[in-house]
Amino acid sequence: LVSRKKHPDNTIVSVKNEQIGDGNQRLIAGPCSVESEEQVFTVAEALKNRGVNLLRGGAYKPRSSPYDFQGLGVEGLKILKKAGERFDMSVISEIVTPGDVETALDYLDVIQIGARNMQNFELLKEVGSTNKPVLLKRGLSATISEFMQAAEYVMSRGNTNLMLCERGIRTYETATRNTLDISAIPILKQETHLPVLADVTHSTGRRDLLLPAAKAALAIGADAVMAEVHPDPAVALSDSAQQMDISQFNEFIDTLRDEQLLKDGA
Ligand code: PEP
Ligand code: MN
Repeated sequence: LVSRKKHPDNTIVSVKNEQIGDGNQRLIAGPCSVESEEQVFTVAEALKNRGVNLLRGGAYKPRSSPYDFQGLGVEGLKILKKAGERFDMSVISEIVTPGDVETALDYLDVIQIGARNMQNFELLKEVGSTNKPVLLKRGLSATISEFMQAAEYVMSRGNTNLMLCERGIRTYETATRNTLDISAIPILKQETHLPVLADVTHSTGRRDLLLPAAKAALAIGADAVMAEVHPDPAVALSDSAQQMDISQFNEFIDTLRDEQLLKDGA
């Protein structure tokens, strides 16, 4: 079902007023974790001021260490929903168990399945049984074929509102947190009919690489770029080294627009 062979036309996923995969490349931005209403509203307002309508933020955080901040849970979803209503934005957040899908339907415009859950098949089946847009991330060590099979799980349950997101893979390289598999983007565009996104934050893990990685992703045909923005990354409860502050984000988006890689309002 995900293969382009039987479905030659691009799938366009409607998220509120935005069409993802319609040929206009977009930005998805927001903090790594939802930490407070004030934090989310500050970022949301800054994004909205620049015409970005897609707000991300983690409420359930799959952390490597059980002693790290685990997210605000449903409180975080409530904050996101409020921000979406207040600033007229669409909100995107990850859920980690099949039991959270029903709750997520009430609060989110897009359900994210994180890299660590790309092969959580029960979760894939559950989101596949809804018609909510799903943003599926590539697993840390998943091949493109495994990624496509995970997508097939979602589509085989009937949900066609699916987007794929390259977010870097594990390699021997230690200079970056993961290795952005840039060629996965055109491969997935060729092999599937689904929108393909690039998460430049989790792939590089480095603030100084967000702009060049975003340029590369847009140039190679990503339908959207995801990047993390926090009012004060130094005190962020997660991913402190890789989030942009608001002035860095403004510079980031201005450069992409000046260089005609991103249109105004995208
Ligand atoms: C995220 O986007 O918040 C996240 C945890 O990313 P990933 O699942 O790609 O690591
Ligand atoms: Mn993060």
